[in-house]
Amino acid sequence: MKGGAEQMLFKYILIGDTEVGKSSIMLQFTEQNFLTNHDMTIGVEFDSRSIDLGGGVTAKLEIWDTAGQESYLSITRSYYRGTDGCFLVYDITRRESFEHLPRWLNEAKQNSANPNLVLMLIGNKADLEGQRQVSKAEAQAFADSNNMLYAEFSAKNAGDVEQAFRESARRVSDVVRKNPRKPSSSVKL
Ligand code: GDP
Ligand code: MG
Repeated sequence: MKGGAEQMLFKYILIGDTEVGKSSIMLQFTEQNFLTNHDMTIGVEFDSRSIDLGGGVTAKLEIWDTAGQESYLSITRSYYRGTDGCFLVYDITRRESFEHLPRWLNEAKQNSANPNLVLMLIGNKADLEGQRQVSKAEAQAFADSNNMLYAEFSAKNAGDVEQAFRESARRVSDVVRKNPRKPSSSVKL
């Protein structure tokens, strides 16, 4: 990397009910891959990818995936600690997964202990329009009332997934600039 470029490190978590597509979203963003029938137990706890945010700034997004513990709704605090960005994921074809979001939102707010946590609501499986159970308007209203960014996409669509991470990372970058963190989280290269 060129001298003077800035590398920022952002920690992300993906939360939401089992089967909504969290692991698929992580795989699509970090490996540009989608598997119709992947093993539930993905062996990694986190993966990362760097993106160029413009203006000489590169953000490395370290993304944590809950790997099955999500059904207990009591994921350990260490999972949330130090989180900069959170994707709150529901499945547009499963209304229940949308109705559980207030609980997930509380978990994130309480456990991250980050008053500036950047939250993004994600309606996944947008390719299954015929089975839709949650309207975009309803999701947008929920996002607005909780100060969250909002996107609907299919984890099958690499471009849309990337765009959502990019939008969220830009917001995190603004937040971090206004509220500087400990020096180790922004490394000058
Ligand atoms: P997780 O439990 O939240 O990690 O969900 P997974 O990523 O394991 O996905 C659950 C199932 O939904 C898998 O069979 C995926 O292939 C499927 N899936 C995930 N995202 C999408 C999507 O955007 N569209 C469709 N049609 N299927 C998806
Ligand atoms: Mg998973």
